[in-house]
Amino acid sequence: MDQGLKETLLAWYRATARPLPWRGEKDPYRVLVAEVLLQQTRAAQAAPYYHRFLKRFPTLEALAQAPLEEVLKVWAGAGYYARARNLHRLAQSVSELPRSREALLALPGVGPYTAAAVAALAFGERVGVVDGNVRRVLARFYALEDPSPQALWRLADALVEGVDPAAWNQALMDLGALVCTPRRPRCGDCPLSPSCRGREDPGAYPRPRRRSQKEEVLWALVLLGPGGVYLEKAEAGRYGGLYGVPLLDEKAFWERAKALGVAPRFLGQVRHELTHRRLRVRVWGARLEAPLEGLQDPSARPLSKLTQKVLGKALPLLAHEPVVSLPDAEA
Ligand code: SF4
Repeated sequence: MDQGLKETLLAWYRATARPLPWRGEKDPYRVLVAEVLLQQTRAAQAAPYYHRFLKRFPTLEALAQAPLEEVLKVWAGAGYYARARNLHRLAQSVSELPRSREALLALPGVGPYTAAAVAALAFGERVGVVDGNVRRVLARFYALEDPSPQALWRLADALVEGVDPAAWNQALMDLGALVCTPRRPRCGDCPLSPSCRGREDPGAYPRPRRRSQKEEVLWALVLLGPGGVYLEKAEAGRYGGLYGVPLLDEKAFWERAKALGVAPRFLGQVRHELTHRRLRVRVWGARLEAPLEGLQDPSARPLSKLTQKVLGKALPLLAHEPVVSLPDAEA
């Protein structure tokens, strides 16, 4: 890509840049929070979480001093809670962020994308940033069917020569998000179109991956009683540190209901997409008359998005259910 075309893309970016709250941000901690959110959340959806997180934890130090449970609660709804746990761990491991991609990569939970984004956007290091949008733009522009990640990173690094790294990387990301979109790219409006090798058949680059996503069925048990909803705290895994209703396979579900002495009723289904799994959750529930250990106020706990969906389905219906008594403990 020659310098003239780069300048054309930068001029397009200056004229059409999305007004995202982290645009132009140079504070490395704020850039880090934005980039961690953007790893799995679309820019428009990430904005309210970005504001909320930084309002409560305005500095790396404030984040380091907060209890993990509070960090997870503030992150609630943004999903992929490992990101919040990693941010917290990182804040506790350094008092300030290092300036280079290489040093950033050595921090806990920081991968190539986040390290490059913070280095380029906050510190102006001459490195490329490859996210899904940039991968698609580069693959199409150079007509690469199946580029390896290493090849794309090398290419992205080389392209930063002669341009401002922050503006350039954000321009490429915006082009992918707004013009060179996965479906129906607007090649007629694209500043790179005069030299784009892939514009005759953009859908061929990069070659679409075939994903087979199996649907997994889980059973959720929602018990509403005096004092709130029955919630369990996950100690590890994807939902580590979060509270949720029991989510089980069918056999374990009925064993749990029997052990608790409840006869739940079917309330409906919710669907939920994870990175490599599609979930169909069958929601069952009952209203309890007597207190039960584990009943608590869900609004006071960090909940996963999936649990929020399940409760959104179950609680309005359970509010009208007849109340049932639990059998005596020895029964
Ligand atoms: S011309 Fe079309 S395919 Fe090429 S970069 Fe622009 S939008 Fe993408």
